[in-house]
Amino acid sequence: MTKKIIVSNIEIDINRKNIKNMYLRVSGHDGRVSISAPLRMKNEEIIKFVTNKIQWIEKQKRKFENSNIQYKYDYVDGEIHYLWGKPYVLRIVTGSKCRTDIIDDSLILTIKNDCTAEQREKLLTEWYRRQLKDKLPVLFDKWEKIIGVHAESVSIRNMKSRWGSCNTRDKRISINLQLAKRPIMCLEYVVVHELVHLLEASHNHIFKGYMDKYLPEWRGIKRTLRSV
Ligand SMILES: [Zn+2]
Repeated sequence: MTKKIIVSNIEIDINRKNIKNMYLRVSGHDGRVSISAPLRMKNEEIIKFVTNKIQWIEKQKRKFENSNIQYKYDYVDGEIHYLWGKPYVLRIVTGSKCRTDIIDDSLILTIKNDCTAEQREKLLTEWYRRQLKDKLPVLFDKWEKIIGVHAESVSIRNMKSRWGSCNTRDKRISINLQLAKRPIMCLEYVVVHELVHLLEASHNHIFKGYMDKYLPEWRGIKRTLRSV
């Protein structure tokens, strides 16, 4: 059973286990903080332990939030942007109507004369959203059949600290828009990961067992997501 406590505004999952010592962990996957604690340890002791470590936890979380999920761009001509892991040179051209096209190795952003960097970013973000929207139905169909679960809703969100999320109670899954920039296998991995949460909510050995069964290469893909 996982219980939650909140210390200094930080939500902490507590997993009771048959162990002697307490272990504190900040997930590199979603920045979530969890503690493994001995079965009979008092809550007060756990809170005291967390309070003593709070600066370290905050530092780890900050490190995670500043991670490389979101690239920084100026949205100017010549900049390299990615779609499904492949690099394209951004070309800014002016026209009467805003649009985004891929031609050979170029990502052509047609904008009106007075388009600001924010507006360019917005145009590209919407374009990435459409790319993901094209891929997601096929991937969800495929993996829902294989895993034998069904997501009630799937949304695309531009998130800073996680690749996806799953509300297991309402069966709502969110996929990070930034995945459109990574190799397609990364998107597939996140889809499988979030769907497997409908079988097992936490990242425990049961969860990993399902991942090994459905996507044996998941560990390598996860490393790719961290290193790019
Ligand atoms: Zn997860």
